Amino acid sequence: MTYDTLIRQALIIDGSNTPGYVADVGVHAGRIRTIGDLSTARAEQVIDAHGRVLAPGFIDVHTHDDTVVIRQPQMLPKLSQGVTTVIVGNCGISASPVSLRSDPPDPMNLLGKREQFCYPRFSDYRNAVQGADPAVNVAALIGHTALRSNHMDDLHRTATPYEIAAMRVQLQESLEAGALGLSTGLAYASAFNAETDEVLQLVEELTAYGAVYTTHLRSEFEPVLEAMDEAFLIGRHARVPVIISHLKCAGAGNWGRSPQLLAALQAAAENHPVGCDCYPYAASSSTLDLKQVTDAFRITITWSTPHPHMGGRDLQDIAGEWNVSLLEAARRLQPAGAVYYGMDEADVRRILAHPLSMVGSDGLPEDPFPHPRLWGAFPRVLGHFSRDVGLFPLHTAVHKMTGLSAARFGLAERGEIREGYWADLVLFDPLRVRDVADFTAPQRAAEGIDGVWVNGVLSYRDGQANGARAGRFLARSGDLRGGFTAL
Ligand SMILES: [Zn+2]
Repeated sequence: MTYDTLIRQALIIDGSNTPGYVADVGVHAGRIRTIGDLSTARAEQVIDAHGRVLAPGFIDVHTHDDTVVIRQPQMLPKLSQGVTTVIVGNCGISASPVSLRSDPPDPMNLLGKREQFCYPRFSDYRNAVQGADPAVNVAALIGHTALRSNHMDDLHRTATPYEIAAMRVQLQESLEAGALGLSTGLAYASAFNAETDEVLQLVEELTAYGAVYTTHLRSEFEPVLEAMDEAFLIGRHARVPVIISHLKCAGAGNWGRSPQLLAALQAAAENHPVGCDCYPYAASSSTLDLKQVTDAFRITITWSTPHPHMGGRDLQDIAGEWNVSLLEAARRLQPAGAVYYGMDEADVRRILAHPLSMVGSDGLPEDPFPHPRLWGAFPRVLGHFSRDVGLFPLHTAVHKMTGLSAARFGLAERGEIREGYWADLVLFDPLRVRDVADFTAPQRAAEGIDGVWVNGVLSYRDGQANGARAGRFLARSGDLRGGFTAL
């Protein structure tokens, strides 16, 4: 047969957390057709990949790309890293199902302005993604805060039985239409007053689908262990898997506690499917939260509606210039976004290296001056943390962004290089791959990413997107409880 594409002599790191091997890969009709010796085979396009690594396309399990995949479907910040699938709808906020009566509440404003929330049903969102032809595949969670915003006049309280019933209907319809599961953002003021019981009732809808529960914990600061217990309780109640989003020890008073957190995660994993994602930086980013304003570590402003020219500047400098306290400066800047340099590097490394953790960028595509994780998270794990620091072997780095992720989120026939699987592939130079985006110049494409194929279509090559937009909407493809295996 004649293949569409033949990638010759790459070191194949297949996503299964095993060391690589050299072989040829033949791609046809969007799928990996043959792996082996194809020296006599013919193809429309032949790529000599000697000295390069061929990996499954990276799966960004933690994104806020909900509306950007439709408005800027070329998705360069992700494609340029080798990401071929994004999971949207994290931290309790999703673009659908949403019917706003006013401006989006914090932090739904991270996803865009009011007019961008135009998907009253999940099926509307699914159709819009399909119609937009994004350059990467898109799978979606349903946000708890999004559901609350549809049915509650005041988000600063727990929901009534009637409101919970209405949310359950929308969640069930969304799961039926292919949503992956439910996410919460219980730390945010817009969900913090939701009692555990409200979430317990909602997750009951997940049981029949074996869908996943993901959570931005109620606290990432001192009460983080209690917050993890709440998450595990919720998962056990519905008998569904739990993913803790961007697991971290936030705040100077919390530094050094990652061994405790990981021990709790490990203990929970012994009798229930649990895991976590994390991004490879010691700074976080979100909306500017007065509760997090402190002089214990640096805070920079990423955007501000009343003071747009303050993007990229230190809160300390702004407060000094205005001759006011940090808190008062923050109040004047709101609504705004911020980067908080509030983690300890040793904690970040321990969590990233743990076998239960996956890589997710948590990038914020709306920010005019974003945290560099938006453009750099994946190459930073491959280059900086695996190759340069030696935190784990390259095949483990790849597994944390491919095979593990696909299993945890039920993305069938993706996440590994296997015959018959979809040809989401990334070719990179293991000696050169590195993140270039940093906190002073955050919007820069990684180096060393030589080629990215999405559903078999070459979409990025040698530092340039070629305009191909071959991504698809990915519906939940099965019961996720089977995706978790013992360590
Ligand atoms: Zn979050």
